[in-house]
Amino acid sequence: MYDYLIVGSGLFGAVFARQATDAGKKVLVIDKRPNIAGNVYTEKIEGIHVHKYGAHIFHTNMKHVWDYVTKFATFNRFTNSPVANYHGELYSLPFNMYTFNKMWGVVTPEEAAAKIEEQKKEAGITEPKNLEEQAISLVGTDIYEKLIKGYTQKQWGRPCTELPAFIIKRLPVRLTFDNNYFNALYQGIPVGGYTKMVENMLDGIEVRLNTDYFENKAELDALAEKVVYTGPIDAFFDFKLGTLEYRSVRFENETLDKPNFQGNAAVNYTDAETPWTRIIEHKWFEFGKDDEGNDIPKTIISREYSSEWKPGDEPYYPVNDEKNGKLYEQYKQLADKEEKVLFGGRLGEYKYYDMDAVIDSALKFAEKEL
Ligand code: FAD
Repeated sequence: MYDYLIVGSGLFGAVFARQATDAGKKVLVIDKRPNIAGNVYTEKIEGIHVHKYGAHIFHTNMKHVWDYVTKFATFNRFTNSPVANYHGELYSLPFNMYTFNKMWGVVTPEEAAAKIEEQKKEAGITEPKNLEEQAISLVGTDIYEKLIKGYTQKQWGRPCTELPAFIIKRLPVRLTFDNNYFNALYQGIPVGGYTKMVENMLDGIEVRLNTDYFENKAELDALAEKVVYTGPIDAFFDFKLGTLEYRSVRFENETLDKPNFQGNAAVNYTDAETPWTRIIEHKWFEFGKDDEGNDIPKTIISREYSSEWKPGDEPYYPVNDEKNGKLYEQYKQLADKEEKVLFGGRLGEYKYYDMDAVIDSALKFAEKEL
């Protein structure tokens, strides 16, 4: 008899499995996918660790989380500095002095600040009625037109004039030459890929892949005292109250017979005409080197497209609107009544979690439970 059956080998499941095992519990981890690691799964192709479910950059200000993950992986010094491509014009992101210099030729922070103020004044918006007006009131017309408008439109599948203003509360403007996207104390990519990191977390733990909990629920439940379920909460209850909605992304991967496609891990396409939102070139997460430190002759890129989600698609981002929030609360009430089953993780709690936040949540969950 196992103490815990853990449904899902993503970060939540893997961290809980590790903590429970270290506390002397007997655990079994199952996952319906053919691989461990959930959405942080990386697959090695042509010597490159390809982020199969979207680019993942680890960043955190939580020292205890950093101390925890670095027990299972060494992290490289990758810093996320995306580039924006607007009809072939390249800009540095997030908005910083390199961006403003390219946009307007301004050289000093005072000049940049004055230019933004001038554009905000010219627009004369006092009470923004939609996302377009909100963005212009925060950063002026040029930045909005070239770097925000098309990208946001593609992401949401609607014109910015039809999107609510509250989606953009603030737009960070840096009057420094700092293009480090995340303001985090600790960041990087695990050397050897995320899959290797999760493999290390699960070291010595029994894992069964290609095992869908719902295909043999009664049998699997009978194996353990308790179940930690990290799959979609609505699926657990057979969608009986309705289906929780997600926003989705579609990835188109391509292997190219050249060493360098775009010279950066992430390039955002900010015009409305290019159909994809961004292109990820995976090798640059690891400075173009394979695990042995050699240059890689080929490259792998992923074009990302925002797509409408329909039941059965891969769930990516929960939709935080009233309807879905209420539905989740109803499912949560049912979940609270389950005596043997505990719910956690991004799908179990219908919540967007960054990796550091999901690890923190799993550690706290384990502390309470064990
Ligand atoms: P998951 O990784 O989804 O794990 C759940 C597991 O449960 C899956 O393996 C699934 O197969 C399994 N499962 C589900 N149902 C069943 C079933 N019935 N039977 C058996 N197994 C089942 N965070 C960052 O910090 N930085 C980033 O740059 C970043 N980029 C992201 C990009 C995208 C596109 C997305 C969507 C998220 C990103 N994140 C990022 C967040 C990160 O992916 C999550 O924090 C993390 O994956 C959550 O782990 P989890 O264990 O909760 O869920």
